Amino acid sequence: MPLIKCNECEHLILSRIGTICPNCGHTVSYFEGDKNRKKYGKFFAISLIIPFFSFFMILLTSTSFIAFNIAVIIYAILAYISSPFKFKEIFFTTFEKFFFLGIWSLANALLVTMIYNLYNKF
Ligand SMILES: [Zn+2]
Repeated sequence: MPLIKCNECEHLILSRIGTICPNCGHTVSYFEGDKNRKKYGKFFAISLIIPFFSFFMILLTSTSFIAFNIAVIIYAILAYISSPFKFKEIFFTTFEKFFFLGIWSLANALLVTMIYNLYNKF
């Protein structure tokens, strides 16, 4: 278990969640300490915002064929960026890995279906 500096008093403590600093009583929280955990917070936000953003972007551009094609390209890039495969090292458990993979697959399956239906309308 790696050591980190306490956020409050810089005393060296264990990076495990829930560790209480013996010097000042500060408790280590989920997104504290380990670099991977900060990355985890970022990934969590990305995986929530990107599907919503893609959905509205595709919906709003669906009246123009050129704008729609650009939106589809942007969507493909965003889907790749938010892929859990790129964040493998941040997951603590197998459950987390499959949970995020499931959400990502579901959101993208819906978006791809939507794109396919809209293409058929042009
Ligand atoms: Zn402390």
